[in-house]
Amino acid sequence: MRLTAWYAGIFVLFSTIAFILAYFSVVSILQTQMDEDLEDDIEEFVALMHLGGIERVKKEIFLETHGKEAQQVFFRLWSSEGALLLTSDLSAWPGLDDPAVYLAQVRDTLQPVLMTIQSAHHAHTARSIYAFIGTDTVLQIGESLEAHEELKEALLYGFLVMLVVVVVLGGPIGWFMANRALNGIHEITRAASEIKEGALDQRVKISPQGDELDKLAYAFNSMLDRIQTLIVGMREMTDNLAHDLRSPLGRMRATAEMALMQSGSKTDVETIAAATTEECDRLLEMINTTLDIAEAESGAAKLEYADIDLVKLLNDAVELFQSIAEDKSITLTADLPEYCHFQGDRQRLQRVVASLLDNALKYTNEGGTVSLELLNVAGRVEIFIKDTGIGMTPGESVRIFERFYRCDKSRSQPGNGLGLNLARAFVHAHGGGISVKSNPGQGSIFAVTLPLYMNSVLAAND
Ligand code: ADP
Repeated sequence: MRLTAWYAGIFVLFSTIAFILAYFSVVSILQTQMDEDLEDDIEEFVALMHLGGIERVKKEIFLETHGKEAQQVFFRLWSSEGALLLTSDLSAWPGLDDPAVYLAQVRDTLQPVLMTIQSAHHAHTARSIYAFIGTDTVLQIGESLEAHEELKEALLYGFLVMLVVVVVLGGPIGWFMANRALNGIHEITRAASEIKEGALDQRVKISPQGDELDKLAYAFNSMLDRIQTLIVGMREMTDNLAHDLRSPLGRMRATAEMALMQSGSKTDVETIAAATTEECDRLLEMINTTLDIAEAESGAAKLEYADIDLVKLLNDAVELFQSIAEDKSITLTADLPEYCHFQGDRQRLQRVVASLLDNALKYTNEGGTVSLELLNVAGRVEIFIKDTGIGMTPGESVRIFERFYRCDKSRSQPGNGLGLNLARAFVHAHGGGISVKSNPGQGSIFAVTLPLYMNSVLAAND
């Protein structure tokens, strides 16, 4: 309502200002025109006086005021001393002013004198001029302003009609404009209210106009998408976490209960305490990993970029896992170039490589091979970890990066199903990608791609 009132008010205000300006400029133009006409008339009479003397002037006055014209125009001829020499028919102009002052003024200045006069019984005003038309003769010409006044009245009337139209239309137009402007906001408010009631999948409709409100709606929808992804992720994570915490906690409780019921030897109690500590460590690791993933995925984790010698990083990892490989009689090899540097977060990339190598060794049977390869291709770095292990079906391959997902046949191995999810979150945080190709019984190839553009962005920022 306020907007509508503003629209209508501004409409009326500006129309009035526009009218006042137009009205006064028309009035001023008319008056100038009239004054110029009167001055031209005087010049004509000067010429007539010059050619035919006073008689010629009298004749002209008679001709010009003949019949109905006497209503519109009058003439008075004076000697310079103020003696009235001639008047036209003044029956329509009773009570004209005493001309003494104007005659004196013309005599003093020798310039024409113009004024607006009001005859006592004449309904309209008139414009009048006094001027010398000969050395000793002053002529007064008066012309009715009736036509001008009618025009001014018509203008005023037209404006009043327009004002009524503006006021009558201004309301609905203002209402329409205000509604149009607020429509988008109503839509956003409606969506926000529905979301407040729990309809998280509600979105604001975006019109094809692409105006400011559409941009707001787009930003609003993107924000909701992001919030929804985070909420769904969090819900999944808490569900899984609760599910995965239940069994170890149950085990711990059962062990503690057993210890309480049987008053066993000191060694028994020590064994139970050791088992409980181990279980606690597993739980802690799971919780910490979950938090690391959440931090990396939400973008809250700030990567500590540094120059990394990737060849050294991978060699160190191979060295670290060599003893585990030897224990399982697995051949662990690395095919690395001489030089490959990368700007990234060293600790997080170490955890990615460690997680992949750990899996490769865990899911490869004795006598198998695990190999690591590093390629520095145009614009990106690629790390391949190949194994000749148990492999996965295509259905499993697409799910292994999900949080807590574990393939059926690997459940005999220790693990919590978080390693690959963490690796993917860290690789994504670097702007890269991770993928797998696998065949059951034949082995798997994990590929990590890290784009070098991040490096040029960082270099540019330096
Ligand atoms: P986990 O702790 O179970 O190893 P991950 O997230 O690291 O959790 O891996 C998820 C699942 O993906 C594993 O349980 C396993 O079934 C499968 N997987 C991962 N790496 C391999 C591999 N190299 N070969 C076969 N299966 C693998």
